[in-house]
Amino acid sequence: MHLVAGRKAGESAGLVGVDDAGERRAANRAVGFSAVGLAVTGLAELVIARVTGSVGLLGDAFHNLSDVSTSLVVFLGFRISRRTASERYPYGLDRAEDLAGLGVAAVIWASAVFAGIESVRKLLGHGSTSHLGIGIVGATIGILGNQIVARYKLTVGRRIQSATLIGDAKHSWLDALSSAGALAGLVAVAAGARWGDPVAGLAVTLFICHVGWEVTTDLGHHLLDGVEPAIITNAEAAAASVAGVTHTHARARWTGRTLRVEIEGWADPDLTIAATDDIGRHVIDAVAHALPEARAITWSARAAG
Ligand SMILES: [Zn+2]
Repeated sequence: MHLVAGRKAGESAGLVGVDDAGERRAANRAVGFSAVGLAVTGLAELVIARVTGSVGLLGDAFHNLSDVSTSLVVFLGFRISRRTASERYPYGLDRAEDLAGLGVAAVIWASAVFAGIESVRKLLGHGSTSHLGIGIVGATIGILGNQIVARYKLTVGRRIQSATLIGDAKHSWLDALSSAGALAGLVAVAAGARWGDPVAGLAVTLFICHVGWEVTTDLGHHLLDGVEPAIITNAEAAAASVAGVTHTHARARWTGRTLRVEIEGWADPDLTIAATDDIGRHVIDAVAHALPEARAITWSARAAG
């Protein structure tokens, strides 16, 4: 016997891990405004990198635009995952987010390779840095853009107590360091050290690799149906706490931002189907309470021997 409890995707699926609708809107707004701020910062740096020939700025621009594109994928995935299931796609389009993530990961790694190659070429004596004043303004825009976004996310994150948003704020704060690296490279060039900019370019390339690594491992974890082990132990403990359940096995996986939990529960074989069905409803309630992030919970009854 199978019972499936489905909750409409997006009904209580917090984009950044918060439950209340008002707080979720505030979190979404913070992520959206920050993405726009970072996009403007990254594009300004990209233009100035072209004018000055600075590879440090080029890499920093790529980094900021990489961060924007990962936010975009989250938004896109959130919208698409609201589409309801059809006969052709019985589980909905949850995995569209992972599919888009693959494209973003490829672009991030490509930009890291490009920034790295440009930095090495420049270090080996090809190309110079010009318009240093404009370049320094560009790097300062990078520092200020990331600092403003970091402060904004931290304020909203603390107000609505979103650990994800606070973590995101720390990321942006660290990203300001990447821009500071580009600035240090340009200041070194101004002081007569031509190698300052390409060395900064290589350092900034490492930051891009870090973003690429995080996006790729996250994606691999999702695509290989990995979950936090605590999800399984919590689900089994919650199911086992229901009267009439003697033993439980749980499995869970994410499809996009939908957490699907399957519970096998062993019960007295002499119970009626109606009684087992009733136990199943209680199990689903208990698991839903223990795992608020679970969107679909399936219960299968087994006969205890
Ligand atoms: Zn970043």
